[in-house]
Amino acid sequence: MTFQFRLDPTPEQEQLMNRTLELCRKLYNRAKEQRETAYKQEGKTITYAMQQKELPAFKKEFPEYKNVHSQVLQDGLQRLDDAYQRFFRGEAGYPRYKSADRYISFTYPQPGAVEKTFAKPGYVYLSKIGVVKMKAHRPFDPANVTQINVKRYVDSWMVNISVKVSDAEAAQTAESAVGIDVGLNTFAALSDETKVDNPRYLRKAEKRLKRKQQLLSRKQPASRNRKKAKLKVAKAHRKVARQRKDFLHKQSYRIVRDHDLIAVEELKVRNMVRNRRLAKSISDAGWRRFITYLCYKAKRQGKRFAQVPAHGTSQTCLCGAPVPKTLSIRIHECESCGLIQDRDIVSAKVILQRALDIPA
Ligand SMILES: [Zn+2]
Repeated sequence: MTFQFRLDPTPEQEQLMNRTLELCRKLYNRAKEQRETAYKQEGKTITYAMQQKELPAFKKEFPEYKNVHSQVLQDGLQRLDDAYQRFFRGEAGYPRYKSADRYISFTYPQPGAVEKTFAKPGYVYLSKIGVVKMKAHRPFDPANVTQINVKRYVDSWMVNISVKVSDAEAAQTAESAVGIDVGLNTFAALSDETKVDNPRYLRKAEKRLKRKQQLLSRKQPASRNRKKAKLKVAKAHRKVARQRKDFLHKQSYRIVRDHDLIAVEELKVRNMVRNRRLAKSISDAGWRRFITYLCYKAKRQGKRFAQVPAHGTSQTCLCGAPVPKTLSIRIHECESCGLIQDRDIVSAKVILQRALDIPA
């Protein structure tokens, strides 16, 4: 698992970090150019191993690269190779040159000894950068750190510390993470087996609004009564919208406060637009707003927010087996592993499972 902490570098350290990014980016682009030239001119394929072997000679030619840890440089070349491999497998487009705003992190793939890297509490030692202040708001086991990644954001620096954890620890982490499934039957189902329902006052208000809207459509066009009814509907509409927003703020606030990772599925916008039923369209708008609130609240509090592909989240079991069910079937029953549970709760758990598979 990965812990993300805020870094508080000194101005000098920040300068070194920015320089590291810039040098890594240039190396990446040079290495890409080298691959292309070799292929175009000689039909030769340059591999990661070949480029890595050339690093010492490269450093001699460009001494400024001596200021970057060799592991970090190797990782830069590895990224390029990964990009090419993804392209060869048909998973991604052809690798592009990186601009400064697209090369925003560097990685120490094998951090040094614990005694050195985490010798000073509240600090992390980054080779060639220095001992950088780090706000480690959660404990982690420094002996099991497998990778350190430094990332530049618009107004801050973060460090992602990957730690090898036991299954027991992983399970504990999953508790502070939550998957959320939004649906028509309940407003949202959570992977911790709780549900969030639309409050009764809101359901009532929405029903009243619907009735008023129907009445309005039956009134004579251009009549005085119609004008009056129209005003009433507009007022009711505004009131319901306000109440709904308030409800969404409260729910999203609570969920973000209680969890470190919040996972939702990507909403299929196209399907939603197609559905013209009023009840449905109201909930669609609500879900989208809910997800927007969750996202920005999570970011503001330094929590992780993940959106996973929605494909099959309601038709798959946690064990991976397909469990097809129509909308009317409310209980998930897996023949493969025997799991029997509310379908929305299972979906929420599947969403969380998918999010935990995504590297931070
Ligand atoms: Zn199963």
